[in-house]
Amino acid sequence: MEKSLGKHHDRVAYFSMEIGLDEKMPTYAGGLGVLAGDYIKSAADMEAPVVGITLLNGKGFFVQKFDGEGNQREEEAPWDPGNYMSSVDKVIEVSIEERRVYVRAWIYKVVGVTGYEVPVIFLDTDLIQNFELDRSITGYLYGGDKEYRLKQEIVLGVGGVRMLDKLGIHVKKFHMNEGHSSLMGLELMKRDLEKNPKKAITHVVDGIKEHCIFTTHTPQMTGHDIFPYSLAERLLRGFMDVEQIRRLCPGDYLNMTILGFNLSGYINGVAKKHAETSKGMFPSYNINSITNGVHPDTWTSMPFKRLFNKYIKDWRRDPHLFRYAVGIPDEDIWRAHVEAKKELIDYVNSEQGAGMDYDTLTIGFARRMTSYKRPAFIFSDIERLKKIAGGNGGLQMVFSGKAHPEDVKGKKIIKDLFQIKKSLEHDIKIAYIENYNMAVAKKLVSGVDVWLNTPQKPKEASGTSGMKATLNGVLNLSVLDGWWVEGHIEEITGWAIGDMEENEQKEKEDLYKKLERVYGVYYHDPAKWVKMMRNALSINASFFNSHRMVEQYITNAYWD
Ligand SMILES: *Cc1c(COP(=O)(O)O)cnc(C)c1O
Repeated sequence: MEKSLGKHHDRVAYFSMEIGLDEKMPTYAGGLGVLAGDYIKSAADMEAPVVGITLLNGKGFFVQKFDGEGNQREEEAPWDPGNYMSSVDKVIEVSIEERRVYVRAWIYKVVGVTGYEVPVIFLDTDLIQNFELDRSITGYLYGGDKEYRLKQEIVLGVGGVRMLDKLGIHVKKFHMNEGHSSLMGLELMKRDLEKNPKKAITHVVDGIKEHCIFTTHTPQMTGHDIFPYSLAERLLRGFMDVEQIRRLCPGDYLNMTILGFNLSGYINGVAKKHAETSKGMFPSYNINSITNGVHPDTWTSMPFKRLFNKYIKDWRRDPHLFRYAVGIPDEDIWRAHVEAKKELIDYVNSEQGAGMDYDTLTIGFARRMTSYKRPAFIFSDIERLKKIAGGNGGLQMVFSGKAHPEDVKGKKIIKDLFQIKKSLEHDIKIAYIENYNMAVAKKLVSGVDVWLNTPQKPKEASGTSGMKATLNGVLNLSVLDGWWVEGHIEEITGWAIGDMEENEQKEKEDLYKKLERVYGVYYHDPAKWVKMMRNALSINASFFNSHRMVEQYITNAYWD
């Protein structure tokens, strides 16, 4: 692959509905967007010729507020892109309901460790020449109904390809990060047919497959975008005959995953187990696996950055070198952790008056608040939990996470957690931090002692917050799903809850057994604890980083 980013060199165009690059730009909702941002940052560090394409999400993702009972209130989070990026003087158009919708671009530059730049194009329809209702298409991330979503996907997929062209960017490979950008393949098809009207469709499709990569991110059918063809017909009429689309994706619904799969030469899931689960869901496709990773410089706390600068000089450019964490002395690892933990505890105490202290075993849990993540799982048997926490030393916990505005059950879970927090106030100090975002995530994953994850198997595709914890030597206590199946070695890199089987009762039982172990090692065998932290760094941080992930995309998916 060509290293130089000169105008005439080919690049990989990475399409994603959300990209989280800077904690001050609310252009992402959660895991998918943060992962996309980490991918782009690693590409920049590695001088890989990539260009990112996404929507501006100009109204941001919501800010979360609570009342005393834990009722979530959503506030808008408008932001000014002009503070972070420059708008370019190029406009393209797409057809929606046979109307012309004009799209402009903002370009954000991600600068890697060597100074190499990867541009990210943010598409924006908020232009005066557009009809009023079209101006907000690129406004709300995951807001609105199916019609709104499909309009967004037209702008991202079709508009994205057109904008790349308009900007004179040569693209060799098109990478669809989830099905939100699958319409991109149709634009490529349309172009080929316009150039070669006599070409057989199968040849057109084969040609497109050589250039397209699809990454699926969810093992839940409901997570895959589908649109009734009646809606697709109406919105896409001026772009393409739906009968032509139907040949690529038969049935009553336009399924963006199936469409993307059928136009891609390489398909992957985001962890080994997730690829297996996806094969079960889509048996007629060859689904590979490239396990997710996180960006080292973004997710490492200051104390650990200093530690790595001292012992693993080149870690930012080449995180394979975390392997050499085996040589870092105990005292230095522990000192860095104590410092990071102090920062978190001070923050939690000043935000919430939580009264937490520096020496107590601290467990963290933060992610989207939704049923399958089972945020209240650790409170399944409160008496047992109290008994563990009642030993010498004690236990404190920090939670955070947003529920999707439409997710009634997710909101109920937050209220339950507020209730539990109150009822346990004399036994276990619990804090719930408002408005989970990249900044809060970084404080939490680096400042707790243990990172807890209790999803319902096999619904966690990968999970990345546990990898962020690992970069800070924080130990994982997790159900064996997603990445942890690959990262877990019992009492070496962390602890597993249950085994590979799906058995809720067994997991509950095992959770408390493991908590007792965690408690015992933390308070009675600190030497072992630090050794485990060091193992987590050398065995897991050296692998579950986004540099390795980008490397695998290059060698397994992009190279011909
Ligand atoms: C890392 C991150 C996530 C994803 O975490 P999971 O462990 O995959 O649930 C979600 N939201 C934010 C703000 C993050 O930083």
